Amino acid sequence: MRKFILALLTMVLPACAGGPSHVTGPTSRNPGHPYRWGGTISYHTDQGGLGNQTNAQANSMVAGAFLVWQNVGTASLDVQNQGQLPFDVTAENVMAFQNSLGRCSDSGHPQNSIVYDVDGTILAALGMDNNSVLGFAGIICTDDSAGLYTRGWSVLNGRFIDGQPNAPGHQSISLQSYRAALIHEFGHLIGLGHSQVNVKCLTDSFCRPEELAGVPVMFPVLVDRSGIELTVDDRASLSLLYPDPAFSTTTSRIQGQVVFSDGVTPAQGYNVIARQVVDPARTAVSSVSGFLFTAGTGNPLMPDGNDTNLFFGSRDTNLIGFYDIAGLPPGDYTVEVEAINNSGQFPFVGSRGVGPVGESLGFQFKMPGRCRVQYLHPPSTPDDDCAARSILTLRAGELLNTGTDVVLLGTPERYDQWEDGP
Ligand SMILES: [Zn+2]
Repeated sequence: MRKFILALLTMVLPACAGGPSHVTGPTSRNPGHPYRWGGTISYHTDQGGLGNQTNAQANSMVAGAFLVWQNVGTASLDVQNQGQLPFDVTAENVMAFQNSLGRCSDSGHPQNSIVYDVDGTILAALGMDNNSVLGFAGIICTDDSAGLYTRGWSVLNGRFIDGQPNAPGHQSISLQSYRAALIHEFGHLIGLGHSQVNVKCLTDSFCRPEELAGVPVMFPVLVDRSGIELTVDDRASLSLLYPDPAFSTTTSRIQGQVVFSDGVTPAQGYNVIARQVVDPARTAVSSVSGFLFTAGTGNPLMPDGNDTNLFFGSRDTNLIGFYDIAGLPPGDYTVEVEAINNSGQFPFVGSRGVGPVGESLGFQFKMPGRCRVQYLHPPSTPDDDCAARSILTLRAGELLNTGTDVVLLGTPERYDQWEDGP
């Protein structure tokens, strides 16, 4: 299996959560809510080509990538192509263009600009390695009081699809993989962060086809997949941000807390996955505990030295361990908690971050206690087997939020005995 780093992110704003990209903080009228676009998302495309693709072919790829998201039936997402940028963005003018986009009070710019870097020279001019960065998407301007995105841009690197063979000094990928990268990038532009489902397809050598098919498009690393279809997790993330009325009535939802062995102390930064019993590899939706809470200030359990006064995320301490898994097709489910990938070649931190801790603080917690994977199994007892799990039966339109707290078994009493901070 080939793996490419989706070096996108160089998000202009530091991203804050897994699920949504950014969550409103204290400057918002409504803290603890994901940022999103208000109304129609419009974009303008660059003039010129992209690698060996003509301008028309590039436009078609861009529209097709947005369409993958627009086609999600449980979401209401309106994306419109408003035509071309007024000039061809090149290595010579991109810095001036970037600076002008950064003047957020100047309303004379497109809401979103999609820049075609025909041969990688634009990325090089922006100081990036055009042999490893496929492109990036970033939010430039926001209305923080309202929790809305107001301007973004994306630069796509054509060097990867210029027809040259893949070689050590010149990475090339198939158009199919490039399209997958575009869908991922535009997921960020729409407001989605990264998701971790079936992480063994990255970390283990053996990954079954159905497990590969369950790896989300918004997984932090691009893994080869036969198709580039959204997974249940991708559709759920989008639908939570832009719900169609049918979303809450046709799907099921589980909300709860991840807590330590004492049953009350909340645990932020763990990956929670609901898996359907009859199709666990593919019908699976994730949420990161504490995804709405700031990774910094206000969490009494954050290791010393990380009490940063972050801009994003709620200070409501009731949200420290909170998880929210929506978009589940009705059926029988188990719920499990695991660590977010924290080692190896691609730890999910920084630009590959999943959840507020990894993205903002640059590390991920390992699982505390004695279970590598911890299942929901209420009422849990200290001598529970790690494999003990409950099966939840969910009906359409149901929100289950009682008996849903996952207790991490065998955790030491004091946090700093097991934390795996920097
Ligand atoms: Zn990404």
